[in-house]
Order: sequence, then structure tokens, then C-alpha cells
Amino acid sequence: MTARILDGTKLAAEIRAEVSAEARAMASSAIRPGLAVVLVGHNPASEAYVRGKVKSSQEVGLYSETHTPAETETTEELLALIADLNRRDEIDGILVQLPLPAHVDAKKILLAVDPAKDVDGFHPMNVGYLSTQRPGLVPCTPAGVMEILNRSAIPVAGQEAVVIGRSDIVGKPVAMLLLNQNATVTVCHSKTRDLPEVCRRADILVAAIGRAGMVTRDYVKPGATVIDVGINKITDRKEFDRFFSGNKKREETFAKNGSTLVGDVHPEVAEVAGAITPVPGGVGPLTIAMLMANTVKAAKMRRGQRVPELARK
Ligand code: NDP
Repeated sequence: MTARILDGTKLAAEIRAEVSAEARAMASSAIRPGLAVVLVGHNPASEAYVRGKVKSSQEVGLYSETHTPAETETTEELLALIADLNRRDEIDGILVQLPLPAHVDAKKILLAVDPAKDVDGFHPMNVGYLSTQRPGLVPCTPAGVMEILNRSAIPVAGQEAVVIGRSDIVGKPVAMLLLNQNATVTVCHSKTRDLPEVCRRADILVAAIGRAGMVTRDYVKPGATVIDVGINKITDRKEFDRFFSGNKKREETFAKNGSTLVGDVHPEVAEVAGAITPVPGGVGPLTIAMLMANTVKAAKMRRGQRVPELARK
């Protein structure tokens, strides 16, 4: 059996088209949802992520601006910038690109973002809204995971779901979203006993660990849906062979770039799972699409407009 591939690139394009249509409809009442991205210092990976976010904002017709304070900027100076963005009415979403430099009090900065503009969904107020099932802004990657499940007509209610990882950014919010859609949820982490055995209970297995190919076939019940959130860069030939030996397309990428991406799930899992997200092209593309959706959602909620639940079809 080979698993059905859940194509995140296609689903993300679908969502972006919907967001773009919503943005156009809002333009008729002279509203243009606006996103402000704050990028402190010069981390190349962060710069690449921010470029992607700005490009996507332009494509779907949102207003966007990028603030690039110097690496040396103090917590107080950054707080002043956030306060200014909080005040400006044309800004609906504020995204502070992480990681922040070590000398900056990141928790203080994230807490300063107006929860109504917190398009990353990291503010404790939005975390509370999510856990009490009130309308709010939901973190982008977890929201993307639910879009993949819902739009692929994979049943969630009543299903056994196992999430590996308990980070505030991915694991915990994914678990909460699954619970809110009536799955029976188990959350695993580095201290979990008999991890493969626990995972084999899952009808839906979500891996958000940050360890290349850790989830092998013995973690997966035949026919289960596997959502691979992990993004790990492989540069070592031996490691490459462990995952992609005999895969011509991957060979080409690896030869050309000297690296390739692998998720937290070993590619062999596609032989036992019922459905699986690829890496790249699975959860990744959904993250930016959901940021766009969140910016429009924030623009509507701030103006007291009704917001449809995107993740519940
Ligand atoms: P964190 O490092 O914050 O969390 C990792 C989690 O995995 C922790 O809860 C940790 O447990 C758990 N873990 C680590 N090792 C093991 C193990 N051997 N067995 C069981 N559990 C383990 O990572 P994130 O949640 O931020 O990210 C997870 C992955 O998702 C990364 O690969 C990241 O790159 C990717 N990611 C992808 C995104 C996308 O857009 N597709 C967006 C965000 C992240 P413990 O709590 O006990 O330490």
C-alpha cells in the first residue's frame, strides 16, 4: 500500500485564493488588511521567511510593511515600535519574527503585541481563547494542520490523535485544535514511555519534534493519517542514504544543492500510512497561507465583522 499524498502546496494555493477574494471584497468598503513584520538583525533564515511572507501578502492583495531594527536594539526600543504598530489603525496584524537576539526579552515583546493584532496567535490571551473555544487568532502552523485534515475530508471527531511535541508554537496548539474538533488526544514528548506503542494507537499522528526521520514505520498503525510538521536540513551523505537511497529526484536535488529537506517522519512511513504530508510541500506552505488568512481575520474581527471558521467545513 502507498499512502495518499496530502498536497500542502495545492491546499495553500486554494486558501490564498480565498483570502485574496476576501481582501478584494473588503476593498469595496475601503478596507485593506495590513500586516507589519518586525525583523530584528540579520538572521539569513529569518530574512528568507520574511521575504516569503511579504511576497505572499502582496500576491493576495494585503498591505504590508517590514520593520528592520538593528541587532543592537534594546527591549525598550522594540516595545516602543510595537506600541506604535498597536496604535496605527491601518495595521491589522503584527508579526515579530523569531528568534529575537538573546539580549531582548522575547516574552515581554510578544506580550506587548495587541492580542487583536497577534496574527501569530502566541499571545496568552489568544492561547486562552483557543483553549476555551472562543473566537481568536490561532497559530499559523497548527491552523494549517487542521486545514489539511479538514480539506482532505479526513475525519477528526471521535478519532484517536497522537501529537509528538508539546511546544507552544506547534504541539500544544495542534493538540488543542484536535481536541476542539472532538478527537481523543494524546500529547507525547521526550519523557514519554514506549513512544512507538503510544503512536501506534493513532488514527491521526502529528509529528512536531525537530528530529530528522525519527518516526519510522513501527510508530504507525497501517492506514493512519500522518502529518509531518518537521523541517530538517540534511547535508550529510550517510544521513541522505538512510532516507533517500535510490530516490532519483532527491539525488538530483542533493547533488545540486548539497542538501535536502526531510521531515520528522521517515519516508518509509508512506508504505504503511493511509495518508501522509510530504516534506517539502506538506505543512510548510500552509503556514504562510494561514498568516494571510489570520491577517484578514484580524482585520474583520477588529471591525466587528463576522468571521467564518476556516478550519471547520
Ligand atoms: P521544539 O524544539 O520547540 O519542540 C520539540 C518537541 O519535540 C518538544 O516538545 C520535545 O519534547 C519533543 N521531542 C524532542 N525529542 C523527542 C524525542 N526523542 N521523543 C519524543 N519527543 C521529543 O520544536 P517546534 O515545536 O518549534 O518545531 C518542531 C518541528 O517543526 C521542527 O522540525 C521545526 O522546524 C518544525 N516547524 C515547522 C513549521 C512549518 O511551517 N512547517 C513551523 C514551525 C516548526 P520536550 O518538550 O520533552 O523537550
